[in-house]
Amino acid sequence: NKQILLAKRPEGTPDQDTFTFEEKEINQPENGELLIRTLYVSVDPYMRGRMVDAPSYVAPYQLNEVIEGGAIGEVISSKSSHFSEGDIVIGGFGWQTFYTAQEDEVRKIDKDIAPISTHLGILGMTGLTAYFGLLEIGRPQEGETVVISGAAGAVGSVVGQIAKIKGAKVVGIAGTDEKIKYLKEELHFDEAINYKTTENMEKALEEACPDGVDVYFDNVGGEISDAVFTQLNKFARISVCGAISSYNKETTDLGPRVQTVLIKKSALMQGFTVGDFFDRFNEGTRALASWLDEGKLTYEETIKGGFENIPDAFLDLFKGNNIGKLLVKVSEP
Ligand code: NDP
Repeated sequence: NKQILLAKRPEGTPDQDTFTFEEKEINQPENGELLIRTLYVSVDPYMRGRMVDAPSYVAPYQLNEVIEGGAIGEVISSKSSHFSEGDIVIGGFGWQTFYTAQEDEVRKIDKDIAPISTHLGILGMTGLTAYFGLLEIGRPQEGETVVISGAAGAVGSVVGQIAKIKGAKVVGIAGTDEKIKYLKEELHFDEAINYKTTENMEKALEEACPDGVDVYFDNVGGEISDAVFTQLNKFARISVCGAISSYNKETTDLGPRVQTVLIKKSALMQGFTVGDFFDRFNEGTRALASWLDEGKLTYEETIKGGFENIPDAFLDLFKGNNIGKLLVKVSEP
């Protein structure tokens, strides 16, 4: 069993030395357990937060322990009456090629509704984040303008499409021309802005949003958000999903204070974690699956191959090397 462990707590941007590879014996399952062969693992920005030894909404990773995270695998032997060989399961077993799970640690996924990898993306954690963060906090109304940062990523690309389903005008912000083209041509966003090549974000947003911004779905924070704040309308809603621009900063990320903007615009700003909506995950998954089925939603995945490339894939998130959900395929089903 190959495993990837946290070798040291990164200062600033993580690199290969943050991780170490190890090989261990595979534990054969005992009663109530099943042995899983990993097929796909998810790499996610929140994992950067877990590398810091500080209290948060999920426990920090421990040094020299396996990096936990969303993963999909195939049951190759089972001593549980709930699972059989060949079942495809999802759980948090993370960056390892095999895992011996307790039967209540994983759940079966339906192989027939969509490719199994979608359960780590559009039908999984990132899709649900988009669904609840937009609909419960952003609450876009028909004809309103929704701006999304990190728009071509796993969460952002779904947020924009749901906002379009709700009849909003959608403006995305992303970091490459390829992503801008994807947002406009494939996802039919009304406007898209490349923040890396745009000199004056405030002006670009003003032009892209002539009626102002009613909903801001924020995945990145920092200067991009500062610019969006200048364009808010009265009673705007800001859904604070992520702040990836600050995750690798060693000092507190200071910027313009937004309080006066919120007051002047009677705006509502709320952070959330997808787990807040745990009780409603079935509802969210059903809605996403039926939009997929009806062709109202589409998705992209950036899939890297090979267990040894997992750290690289994780680092790619901070370089913007992904469109849609970033995954690593570890073995064939
Ligand atoms: P993405 O698929 O969006 O991948 C990350 C993207 O972030 C990159 O592709 C890159 O795109 C962009 N990025 C990286 N560094 C910066 C930077 N310095 N400034 C601006 N953009 C940057 O990841 P996810 O969709 O999985 O996650 C998106 C956000 O949502 C993250 O902040 C994450 O932490 C958060 N999140 C929050 C959850 C919650 O429960 N609140 C749950 C899941 C995710 P580009 O080329 O455009 O720069």
